[in-house]
Amino acid sequence: MDQIRNGWFSEINELWPGQCLSLQVEEVLLNEKSDFQDVLVLQTKHHGRALILDGIIQCTEHDEFSYQEMISFLPLCAHPAPSRVLIVGGGDGGVARECHKHPLVEHVVQVEIDSKVVDASRRFLPFMAQGFDSDKLTLTIGDGFKYMEEHKNEFDVIITDSSDPIGPAVNLFTESYFRLLKGALKRGGVICSQNGTVWTELDKVKETLDHCRKHFPVVKYAVTSVPTYPSGQIGFIVAAAGKADPAVPKFRVGEAEVEEMGLRYYNGEVHSAAFVLPNFVKKVLYD
Ligand code: SAM
Repeated sequence: MDQIRNGWFSEINELWPGQCLSLQVEEVLLNEKSDFQDVLVLQTKHHGRALILDGIIQCTEHDEFSYQEMISFLPLCAHPAPSRVLIVGGGDGGVARECHKHPLVEHVVQVEIDSKVVDASRRFLPFMAQGFDSDKLTLTIGDGFKYMEEHKNEFDVIITDSSDPIGPAVNLFTESYFRLLKGALKRGGVICSQNGTVWTELDKVKETLDHCRKHFPVVKYAVTSVPTYPSGQIGFIVAAAGKADPAVPKFRVGEAEVEEMGLRYYNGEVHSAAFVLPNFVKKVLYD
């Protein structure tokens, strides 16, 4: 609660030194400690409801669709037949909501470590928690890293919608995690992992990409804009276990599909454009 002063929440954190985003607060809806992290839900004045874990903004009602659609549809559409999907993390339910929409997805398993995040979302963030009502979904409470150690050759797509690399999420950015991801995928599978911003942590982004490169033959980086994330931007590692380029969609989302699935951000053109990077980023990540 130190982060709320004079009616403003400020996201001060050493992960993005010297800068922070502030949200004007109308009401604190929930403030509790789980076994893993501090869970805070705010009613903000201009961004709807916001979920904050360990002092870091996870999503706001105003702009969550950009993140949830991109982390889901980039890997789902990079795969020709994504029938079995695994979500690691994603405790707000937004990624499950998006996976449900894809017509070729038949079954989604979700492994979230913290039941208190799921409960908080069900109670206060129904626009995302509706994902938990999907008849395609099996939700398990547990550690995604451990789950992966016990499951081999099972999934077409694995989406890691984790919090930043502190607390329970540290393991989800390591080289051994990418080895486990590869093992849990079926032939030709695709993964997508949340991976920071190029503005404040380019070296860290590169380090995680290099971990992934040790186990996947095709590794790409894509970005999207989310105004309430640090520097207003976040990136994803999208990697394929086969030879296909994940930057080229195998399932095309045109105007009819956008309408059908109620997509506000993702379409086929956005898919390809997300992988186009500026020179200073290309130089560090791909040279
Ligand atoms: N969109 C968000 C972002 O990038 O800031 C991530 C949202 S989602 C709420 C992140 C979730 O990952 C949290 O609910 C957290 O509990 C979960 N998580 C962290 N470490 C985990 C682990 N090892 N296994 C499973 N879930 C984990």
